[in-house]
Amino acid sequence: MAEFKNEFSWSFSKAKDFSACPRRYYWERYGSWGGWENMAPQKVKDAYRLKHMKNRYALVGIAVDLAVKEAVAKIQAGEEVTFEEAYKTARDYLVKVWYEHQKKDYEKNPKRSTCIRDLYFSEFLIGDDESRQAWGDFIKERLTVCLENFFGMILPKLRPYLANGEIIPIGGEGIQSESFTIGGVKIYAAPDSVIKTEDKILIVDWKTGKQQQYHEYQVRVYGIWAQKKHGIPAHMIELALVYLPDGTWKNVPYDEDRDSETFKYISESVECMRDKLKGRDIELNEPLNMEEFEQTGCLEECARCNFVELCQRTFTLALKDES
Ligand code: SF4
Repeated sequence: MAEFKNEFSWSFSKAKDFSACPRRYYWERYGSWGGWENMAPQKVKDAYRLKHMKNRYALVGIAVDLAVKEAVAKIQAGEEVTFEEAYKTARDYLVKVWYEHQKKDYEKNPKRSTCIRDLYFSEFLIGDDESRQAWGDFIKERLTVCLENFFGMILPKLRPYLANGEIIPIGGEGIQSESFTIGGVKIYAAPDSVIKTEDKILIVDWKTGKQQQYHEYQVRVYGIWAQKKHGIPAHMIELALVYLPDGTWKNVPYDEDRDSETFKYISESVECMRDKLKGRDIELNEPLNMEEFEQTGCLEECARCNFVELCQRTFTLALKDES
């Protein structure tokens, strides 16, 4: 079987990891590479397993994304979808994940079988049964709020686009990951929902956490993707961040100045990543020694990170809103 190549590429999430903690970027992109092989060193296998853990915020995000995308596709096809149906789609996913965690299948196949970080690290330090109850309560509450706001506040704004447009499928089974290149570097971009009408393209990112300034950069990268991959001129691109916990629809301005700012951001980030490669060679893509990837001094980052046991960092377990 042909060997996979660890290809150098850039994505918003890689840039975010790199700026939060270069060591985390190392574990994610290099230290875990090949961890699926039986013969891999134990540390690499551990890094590969830990990289695939998901916390409650990420899981709610995936579940809501599944439910919302399914609802949007059905409504666009002329069907109606109720809150209960969408809730069931999201809940079915979370129940599946829950059982995967209980069965510990992730020990053998961490990519296909979820390990729930909050339970793995016993972040709910209130006894086994109560911990599980608290985890379930959190999930249920956030899921309900997000989907209620989708149906009550967001869907009415989306309907005119759905009535006059077509959905461009992004990601999923059998669909290639979306990417484009800048200066020979592959840039991955995976917008949540893309709707193309006669005179514009609407790109929406569904958020199930709190508002962050960097989200605007993230969707602007999607704007560049739409231009490069689909040849859509900047003036026809509409970007929106939708925060489902409070039902906010935030339009993100997109024009040529902001476009150049985003290009600059990507280029600078790529250059910082190249500094950590032998000979700065992106074709070779061989990292410097792990020690060259600095560990963050911010223990709050460590408290949110999947790799604490590899870095042997201790942190205070706290049930705070880290979304
Ligand atoms: S545990 Fe801390 S130092 Fe280690 S990778 Fe994570 S954030 Fe970085």
